[in-house]
Amino acid sequence: MEGNRQKRIFEILSVVKLFTVLIIGIAGLNEYTKSNNAQFSSEIFYYDIFSLSIFLFIMLFSCWLWLGYTSLENAQKYRNILYTVEILINLLAITILVAYSPEIAQYKLLFLLVIITTIIQYGFKYGMLISLLSSGIIITIDLISIGNTIMNDTFQNDLIVLGIFNLLAWLLGYYEKIEREHREYITQLTITDGLTEVYNHRHFYDSMKVILQRAKHAGEPVSLLFIDIDNFKHYNDLFGHQKGDTVLKGIAQIIKENVRSHDLVFRYGGEEFSVILQDVCEQVALVIAERIRKTIEETKFEGEEYMQSNSLTVSIGVSSFPEKAQNDTDLVKCADDALYRAKFFNKNRVETYFSILQELKDDIKEKDVSLITSIMTLISVINAKDRYTYGHTERVVMLTQMLGDGLGLSDEDKKTLQYGAYLHDIGKINIPEEVLNKKMPLTPEEWEILKQHSSNGVGIISPVECLEHVKPVILHHHERYDGKGYPHGLKGQEIPYLARVMTVVDSFDAMSSNRTYRARKSFDDAIEEIRRCSGTQFDPEIAEVFINILLKSKGKFY
Ligand code: GH3
Ligand code: MG
Ligand code: MG
Repeated sequence: MEGNRQKRIFEILSVVKLFTVLIIGIAGLNEYTKSNNAQFSSEIFYYDIFSLSIFLFIMLFSCWLWLGYTSLENAQKYRNILYTVEILINLLAITILVAYSPEIAQYKLLFLLVIITTIIQYGFKYGMLISLLSSGIIITIDLISIGNTIMNDTFQNDLIVLGIFNLLAWLLGYYEKIEREHREYITQLTITDGLTEVYNHRHFYDSMKVILQRAKHAGEPVSLLFIDIDNFKHYNDLFGHQKGDTVLKGIAQIIKENVRSHDLVFRYGGEEFSVILQDVCEQVALVIAERIRKTIEETKFEGEEYMQSNSLTVSIGVSSFPEKAQNDTDLVKCADDALYRAKFFNKNRVETYFSILQELKDDIKEKDVSLITSIMTLISVINAKDRYTYGHTERVVMLTQMLGDGLGLSDEDKKTLQYGAYLHDIGKINIPEEVLNKKMPLTPEEWEILKQHSSNGVGIISPVECLEHVKPVILHHHERYDGKGYPHGLKGQEIPYLARVMTVVDSFDAMSSNRTYRARKSFDDAIEEIRRCSGTQFDPEIAEVFINILLKSKGKFY
């Protein structure tokens, strides 16, 4: 919007500037022919008209080129210098004209055009400066030519002209100032959140684009924090939305106090904030995020002692350009994912984004790199279709690694399990998006479609020879210990061991994640559910080991 306004003003100003040059040229021409009239001869006259027209044309053409150049992107750096030169050239040309014929008042009015364009471009102060300068020039010329009888009258007339100059400059300049201040106020309103007085969601995306572009250019890092208040719904339920709003204001204030004055703080959503930290790498961003988290934890909010956790806390996700993401969309996605992990690992913590897929790719053998790359592409296609699968895959891999260690699996089995964890949902690629993201419970037909994903997955990886041993994990990860699962209804020990391991982890993560059709369970409730279904849905021995690992890691890793 602002860019468009500037462009239109530039267009109007360009027209005025072209006319100024044209009028100066015509006036110059007028003076020239007047001085030649004494020895009038039609031949010389036509010759003069011809050469002066060419002069006028060259003048306008160079003016046009000049206007074109000053509007160019890479001339913007020198814009102020260029415009100052332009104003000085115009002033000089008019001064010459006035000095040549000080008795012609109209020439002096040309200064007005320069004054007006300066006010529009630079505002009140500079407009007044040019107006005073022009007045000075006129008075000086008048004083030099005084003594001449015609000039005595002219001088008096000029005083009126000068009065008009300065009054008009003052009026127009002042009007421009009021308008600009009003415009700035309105702009500020459109980008500020009314409640917390930090920037709003709309301004977040605009800023991200501009800042990342600048950072790419300068080769500087940018970090992004996503901050979400923990269990805020509960706080609102206890004390009402008005008290909740006071907390939101307080937290926005704390965030602002813990970052530098030029860092940008936004209210990203209802009770979510984001911070863009320019020229800050991930390591430093983590320190800042931890400082914010700790300050909020230690700040006393009214009534927080009645909350389950005894305290009002936040979870923070951190991501950085260019370490973790290469563009603004990915940066947001990674910070969001990191926040999701922080929430998942029991809240009131800072988490940074990392991709296990990326790490696996780093330590994989040369010949398998292309394979993993295609798998990553496939998974990213599923991610785009199903928001849940995105973090789910990565969390399941992490949890299977922990469980694999706990169960004392061989290195080979751990690897198989890890691949299985990556690929267990790959069959979802064939399932329509509407079914994956449906908010209502699925119809029996839709269930049938969804259930096909395990066999579909096997179909997809079957051409890849080295993944042969992963197939059973994918095919049977929805079998139940009591035989009521799918696709084959296998029971107990009939189900391949690694598939049984996979089932426990997959179910735990599904329970503790938000799905489109139901809210997630808390960490403790999800553990309780695993315990409840041990022996029916899950292999009791595996479930037991998993529960112990989860409980042990709660204070540490979780
Ligand atoms: P979690 O720890 O998982 O973040 O739990 P939560 O309860 O904070 O859940 P969620 O992030 O979904 O919180 C959304 C709640 O934030 C819903 C609503 O009560 C509250 N909220 C959102 N916007 C406002 C607001 O403008 N004012 C107030 N007072 N509360 C808001
Ligand atoms: Mg939220
Ligand atoms: Mg929340």
